[in-house]
Order: sequence, then structure tokens, then C-alpha cells
Amino acid sequence: MKKNEKNSKLSSEQYYVLRNEGTENPGSSLLNNEKRKGAYFCAGCGTKLFESSTKYESGSGWPSFFQSLPDVFETKIDYYMGYPRTEYHCKKCGGHHGHIFEDGPKPTGKRYCNNGICLVFKEEI
Ligand SMILES: [Zn+2]
Repeated sequence: MKKNEKNSKLSSEQYYVLRNEGTENPGSSLLNNEKRKGAYFCAGCGTKLFESSTKYESGSGWPSFFQSLPDVFETKIDYYMGYPRTEYHCKKCGGHHGHIFEDGPKPTGKRYCNNGICLVFKEEI
């Protein structure tokens, strides 16, 4: 993972998830219920990651999206759970955001299961 000098502005929870590939407790994010029109940005570096139009209610307890903006994430396979999962992280700051699953809605069939604490929502005005 890349080093980032801007770590000081992150909370300890954000640091844990973004930099140590942690996972927040399901249902803990206020963004689960965020339905306003806008966009979601990386808490680590401010890169725009998701449009609100790609967010959907997956029932997982984490904010879920079926599509990210193009070319904002890099992925790798992790085996923390004993089976392969596709982990994704911010291309710019290296911050861990969540995992991609193949059970999302059309048209992509993907579910970006994102830790809400890693996202900053900005409402479109
Ligand atoms: Zn970032």
C-alpha cells in the first residue's frame, strides 16, 4: 500500500479501514440511508468515486453501488475470509474501500460493497 502524508486528517476509524484494510460494522454508516442526489468522494484524497445514481439498497448493511466512476480503483484478490474476494482500493491514495461481489443489479451485475466511513457524500445543488 502506498504511503500517504495526509493521514493526519483521518479519524482513527477511517485510518483503520482505509490504511489497514479493516471493515466497519454493518449498519453503522449514516450513508446507508443517504438517498439525495450527489456524488461520493474518497475520504483519503477527495477523488470522486461514485455517482448517487449508481447507489442501491443491497441489504448488506454497507453502502452499495453497482458501478464506480471509470479508472478510480485498483483491485486485488484477498483471502482474509479463507476464500478469494476482490478487494478494491483508491488508485490515487491507495486507501482500501471494500470488496466487489458479482451479485449486483443490472446492468453491471456488480456490487461495490463500500465502507461508508471511507466515503464523503456531497449533495448536488
Ligand atoms: Zn483516495
